[in-house]
Order: sequence, then structure tokens, then C-alpha cells
Amino acid sequence: MTTQSTDTIRAIVEPGVYLVGKQMVATAELERLLSDHGVSWNSDSEVPAEILTETAGRLCYMSFAKPRPGGNSAYLHHIKEVGHGSVLEHGVWNFVFTGISRSLSHELVRHRAGMGYSQLSQRYVDESVAEYVEPDIIANDPELHAIWLNAVKHAHESYVMLAEKLNEKLGDPAAAAAAMLPANPDRTTRRKAARQAARSVLPNATETKIFVTANARALRHFMEQRGAAAAEPEIRKLAGHVLDVLRADSPNLFGDYRKVPLPDGTFELVTDFKKV
Ligand SMILES: Cc1cc2nc3c(=O)[nH]c(=O)nc-3n(C[C@H](O)[C@H](O)[C@H](O)COP(=O)(O)OP(=O)(O)OC[C@H]3O[C@@H](n4cnc5c(N)ncnc54)[C@H](O)[C@@H]3O)c2cc1C
Repeated sequence: MTTQSTDTIRAIVEPGVYLVGKQMVATAELERLLSDHGVSWNSDSEVPAEILTETAGRLCYMSFAKPRPGGNSAYLHHIKEVGHGSVLEHGVWNFVFTGISRSLSHELVRHRAGMGYSQLSQRYVDESVAEYVEPDIIANDPELHAIWLNAVKHAHESYVMLAEKLNEKLGDPAAAAAAMLPANPDRTTRRKAARQAARSVLPNATETKIFVTANARALRHFMEQRGAAAAEPEIRKLAGHVLDVLRADSPNLFGDYRKVPLPDGTFELVTDFKKV
């Protein structure tokens, strides 16, 4: 995550992408399954998601005994080519994205199939930590940057003021009752009530963090849609970082994507195997 300190506001211009979890193969169980069915087979891949997706695909036709040449790479290439996409659902990764805007996270969670989310709560977490995501097109222009900074600062100060005042007012039993809180709400309950109302003035630029669990098919769909030239630049940048991580981790599942330069110096993600 790259940030630029501007007075009290930290302007973020690059997201953080953390690959925090991956699968493992239960090798002994896989071998037991194969031996129970009188076959012996080893994938030539060492990437668990690649081994498991190949295993799932081979199970469909019980094609462990006489694999075609080319190993895991050729096998998964063929799966993508023929669009047997459900096989790719068996490869799963756990990510944490940080330094992304609330507008990006709103676009991200539109991806429903094969994706799971846990996002930073604006009700429980204090947003007076002033981190906001600045679009490149604004950050690169001093005049636009000044307007943006001013607007964000104003919103931020209003949030802090509202949260403080609400917290104070909810100390009054009548106000607490009107807000359906217990007569003497504890600190956490009062702060939650204050923050959930105060956050209404926070801008789309507000930084958020999100834990994302996704399978290979869903990730491919996400990267195709959000890595396309028509996608919003912040999420396109995120899609590019996700591709870098996935391509390094699993070249056989994601190596078919190319980063094609665009006239503005950014890039789009392109593949020959769309919407597998
Ligand atoms: C450039 C761009 C601009 C956009 N602009 C807007 C906008 O202005 N307003 C807006 O609201 N959204 C907008 N979107 C979001 C878009 O409409 C989708 O909600 C989002 O991209 C997720 O796509 P999806 O539904 O294919 O993905 P997922 O929800 O992950 O679904 C994956 C696939 O599963 C299948 N599927 C999932 N759910 C169902 C279902 N209920 N029934 C049948 N099949 C299903 C479909 O084949 C789908 O493609 C935009 C997206 C992009 C990329």
C-alpha cells in the first residue's frame, strides 16, 4: 500500500494485496482414493490448486490411468479451452485487500458467485484514522489534488466532530433511550451508535480493508471484467495486482492472461479463454 502524507490526511494511491491463505493437498488421502480404485497417478504440478483442479477434472472421466502428454499445464489449458469451468472452482485462495476505497469495495462485492467477503466495519472501527484513496487522475494534477484534499479534510473533520458529539449526547439517558440504547450504555455500545450515524458523511474515498476468499473461476471472471479497459481505474489496478500474485502462484491456472498497455500508461488484462 503506497501512501502520501498530506497534512493530517493520508492519501493512498496503491492498494495492498496480501495472499494470506492457500490450499494444501491431503496426499495420503488422495493416494488412498487412487489405490482403492486400482490406479496410480501423480500430477507434475507442485501447486495444490493446480493438483486439486486436475484431480477434479480427471475424476469426471476417471482418466488417471492413461494421462495424455503435457502434464498439468496441458491439462488445465484444455479445461480452459473447452470451457469446463466448474473444475476451476476447486482451486481456492484467501486474500486481504487494503488501501482500497469504499467505492471499489462496493464494486468488488457485486461479484457474488464463488467469492466470500469479510469487510472492515465502519460501525465498530473508528474512522478518525484519516486514510483516503485518491484517484490517480486527481493525484497527478496539483489543482485537482487541492480540491480533493479540501473536500476530504472537510468530510473527515465533520465525521470526527459528529462522532464525538453523538458519543457525548448519548451519555444522556433520554437520548440513549430515544436511540433504543440501554439506559446507561457502555462505552462500546455508545461509540458504535455514534460511529454508525457519523459515517454517513464519509466519502467514497474512505479507505477500507476486506478479506476475500475466492475460487479460480470467480477470480478469472473478476479479472476479466475488472481488468478490462472499460473498468474503473482503481479496481483495474487492483485486478492487475491480483493477477501478478496469482500468476506467480499458479501459472497453469492464470498464465494465459496478458497485460496489454493502454494509451494512458495503464494496462488491461486480456485472455483467449474468456468466462471459463
Ligand atoms: C465496466 C463495468 C461497469 C459496471 N457498471 C455497473 C452499473 O452501472 N450499475 C450496476 O449495478 N452494476 C454495474 N456493474 C456491475 C455488473 O453489473 C456486475 O454486477 C458485476 O460485474 C459482477 O458480475 P457478475 O454478476 O457476472 O458476477 P458474479 O456475481 O460473480 O456472477 C458470476 C456469473 O455467475 C452467473 N450468475 C451469478 N448470479 C446469477 C444469478 N442470480 N442468476 C443467473 N446467473 C447468475 C452469471 O453467469 C455471472 O456472470 C459494472 C461492471 C463493470 C465491469
